[in-house]
Amino acid sequence: MRQDFDFRAQRLFVDAELTAGGTLSPTSAQVNYLRNVLRLAAGAEIIVFNGRDGEWSARLHEAGRRAISLEVVRQLRRQESGPDIDYLFAPLKRARLDYMVQKAAEMGVRRLRPVLTRHTIADRVNLERMQANVVEAAEQCGILHLPEIVAPVRLERALAEWRPERRLVFCDEGAEIASPVVALSTLAPGPVAVLIGPEGGFAAEERDALLAHAFVMRISLGPRILRADTAAVAALTLVNAVVGDWR
Ligand code: SAH
Repeated sequence: MRQDFDFRAQRLFVDAELTAGGTLSPTSAQVNYLRNVLRLAAGAEIIVFNGRDGEWSARLHEAGRRAISLEVVRQLRRQESGPDIDYLFAPLKRARLDYMVQKAAEMGVRRLRPVLTRHTIADRVNLERMQANVVEAAEQCGILHLPEIVAPVRLERALAEWRPERRLVFCDEGAEIASPVVALSTLAPGPVAVLIGPEGGFAAEERDALLAHAFVMRISLGPRILRADTAAVAALTLVNAVVGDWR
């Protein structure tokens, strides 16, 4: 078991510099959470992180009748970068998208890249809601780097602007059944992306467009059609295990 990681401690994401002796002013929502939900008293210690400077211990101080300030004490974990995986996905309906974004963040992806495809149901993506889901997953799972959230683009445009040094793992529900582990094992080390389609799957012309590119590797996720959010977890598990940072 890794010793440097206390997953029971309370974690708080703060958008501020973290240096020893620094003072943080939590947001009112965070003050409410610390005071009324966690019922922490002055002197209690929590863990804070900002996605850039690793993880630090912080001590609560009363700062007036209702306010709280946090004194940054010492660094507990150094910043980690996680695997260089871009996760491209057709936005799903609200609750399933919330779930999928949290799982992708837990899987350590570096970028969340919504792509609009022919059968995509959601026509707009709430980026603030995605950010809130990423922060919640990071606070619960001790993830130190927050995935960058990119604005949605059409799939055609993402392909047209693709940087070919990043291999794109295309999870195709129409692929012949073959071992995804064998396929992924042929990938050279380097930046990778995973693409999961919408509830309605990929259109034929999208499949043809994807397969025309040398940077695309098509994989099957087995003989059954998985729901998109299930496919996300399955695909990111395979990629992390074969070419990511689970080795
Ligand atoms: N109608 C279901 C499933 C749609 S398929 C739903 O409501 O979610 C959603 C996406 O998951 C596909 O476009 C593909 O990217 C991936 N996927 C699902 N099953 C798959 C399989 N057996 N092989 C490869 N990809 C799969």
